[in-house]
This record gives sequence, C-alpha cells and structure tokens, in this order.
Amino acid sequence: MKGSCLCGSVSVSAPNHAEVSLCHCSMCRRWSGGPMFAVHCSSGIEFTGDKPKAYQSSEWAERGFCEKCGTHLFYHLLPNNEYILPAGLFQDQDFKLVSEIFIDEKPDFYELRNDTRKMTGQQVFDQFSKQ
Ligand SMILES: [Zn+2]
Ligand SMILES: [Zn+2]
Repeated sequence: MKGSCLCGSVSVSAPNHAEVSLCHCSMCRRWSGGPMFAVHCSSGIEFTGDKPKAYQSSEWAERGFCEKCGTHLFYHLLPNNEYILPAGLFQDQDFKLVSEIFIDEKPDFYELRNDTRKMTGQQVFDQFSKQ
C-alpha cells in the first residue's frame, strides 16, 4: 500500500494490511488531536522523499512526522523495531477497524459503534511483555 504526507514531501510504501486498531491513550490523543487509527506493519516499510523527523516520546518508542507539513508518519516501537503507521496516510486502502487499545484512557465525549476487541492499557503491556 502507498501513501504520503499532506504536502507530498514524504511518501511511504508498506505491505498490504486490512486491519486497523485505534489507540485512545492520552499521548496518542495529544499527538493526533484524537485517538490514533493505526496499522501495525512489522517490516517492509519504506519512506522516500524527505527524511521523516522523529521525536522520542517514551523510553520504548519514537514518533515520526514530516518536517514541512507536520503530518504524522509513524509510531516506532524500538524494542522490536515495529512500525505502526497512521491509517490516514493510505487513503485508497480498504481498512477494517478490529481493535481498540487503552480503552480505559478513552475520554467520555466520544463512543464508537464498531464491534471491536477492546483492551486496557494494562492488558496491552501484559501482552507486550509476553512477546
Ligand atoms: Zn509533508
Ligand atoms: Zn496510544
């Protein structure tokens, strides 16, 4: 699948994925202005054009963005080198929302009707530490 940032300076290609997960954590909401619709792409990601800027947002992750237009380009999990990309980059892709994580951090002002698998932050960390 292929995508690009708002100004077109950065293009990205990744293997095809259909599943999207949504993160309600406070950091994603601050970063994105809302919950983050994300595609887990373990490998095979290629950025072309301008080099994305990266901001290390925690001990275990950095978040990338276009230096010109500010479009969010990736969440990079450092321990396992996994890239999680915003679904909005890929406008032509047929996605299905399958899971919502950090559901315990979701604010009350929105509620999705999608039938998804929901996990708390603790459940996410537990699953992550078992991998
Ligand atoms: Zn841009
Ligand atoms: Zn998050």
